[in-house]
Amino acid sequence: MQRKSNFYAFCLSMCIFLCNFAALLGSQYIVTMSRKVLLIFTGGTISMVRDTETGALHPADMQTFKTYVPELFAGDIHIDMIPFEPLLDSSDLNPDNWREMAQMVEQNYDAYDGFVILHGTDTMAYSASALSFMFDNLCKPVVFTGSQLPVGVLRSDAKENLLTAIEIAAAYDTNGEAIVPEVTVYMDGELYRGNRATKRNAEHFSAFNSYNYPALARAGVHITYNRQLIGHYGNLSRPLNVMTKFDTRVAILKLFPGITEAVVAAVLDIPDLRGVVLETFGSGNAPTHDWLYERLHAAVERGVVIVNKTQCNTGSVSMGQYAVSLNLLKAGVVSGYDITTEALLTKMMHLLGEYPNDIELVKKLLAKSLCGELTI
Ligand code: ASP
Repeated sequence: MQRKSNFYAFCLSMCIFLCNFAALLGSQYIVTMSRKVLLIFTGGTISMVRDTETGALHPADMQTFKTYVPELFAGDIHIDMIPFEPLLDSSDLNPDNWREMAQMVEQNYDAYDGFVILHGTDTMAYSASALSFMFDNLCKPVVFTGSQLPVGVLRSDAKENLLTAIEIAAAYDTNGEAIVPEVTVYMDGELYRGNRATKRNAEHFSAFNSYNYPALARAGVHITYNRQLIGHYGNLSRPLNVMTKFDTRVAILKLFPGITEAVVAAVLDIPDLRGVVLETFGSGNAPTHDWLYERLHAAVERGVVIVNKTQCNTGSVSMGQYAVSLNLLKAGVVSGYDITTEALLTKMMHLLGEYPNDIELVKKLLAKSLCGELTI
């Protein structure tokens, strides 16, 4: 009897050993155990709870938040939290807040394996894009997430978004390297590169899309990572460097049929203007009025950087494909290829801030992928 049970115990341990060994050989073997993740609360719907007396939504303090998501402390990932004070609706965020987020990551970089930034969904794609350009040599995950319903509401999507974002932030390979060492946006089962994400829906749980780059991971019963799509822009042997300068003297000029010279002039003649996102039609086309060409050309001659961004969500600018984009080329407008408006605007602010005296370098870098934001 004793020999029989020894035999079963032996078989069982062999099975466990073989399963682990097979998993180790497979590229999907992921370790989250005893990892440390820092949650950075900036505000937004995800951090709201309903006041039981008045019924109004207001930002939850950390203690209240913990009572709504007790699971945070039930797993084997160590979690710490730091909040913005006060918590903000993401419509109120600006480059100072991007700096604050990036510096919170920088100051805690060595102490944590990954970072989750809780953020309102409205401007999340701008913040995620900005941070992707600010971090030089990022080797750890920085995952943005939010929710469409407040954490304190029964049907809220907050819990799933938060817990999965934490798992992604803590996911490391057996060789000790982070699975997704990028700035990303996680929402409703999809993980996107941050500088490819766009808010597409004001109501559905699936609030974001990445029109020109596939999801980096999908979360269902398991989290499936698309490893060949994940960027590894950092070098483990070099420290993280955070670039914090932004130049906000930029504008977005959206073309429309019937646009008048007065509208274009009102934007291009803004004193001290440094950069313009020119939102064009289709593959980067614009009306062929002489005044449009002359206004754009004069602005470029004055040192304003103008980048062509298509109004289409999907696809790329291809200047010169149609006669109606030749004037833009001639005027010195730079192609934005398939970049999002959010990524282009923040990249422009970042480059103009970092290289204020080298417009040619700014133009060169705008037409290049720095961290996966565009495809040439
Ligand atoms: N207005 C909110 C915000 O962006 C919406 C949200 O969190 O989804 O802060």
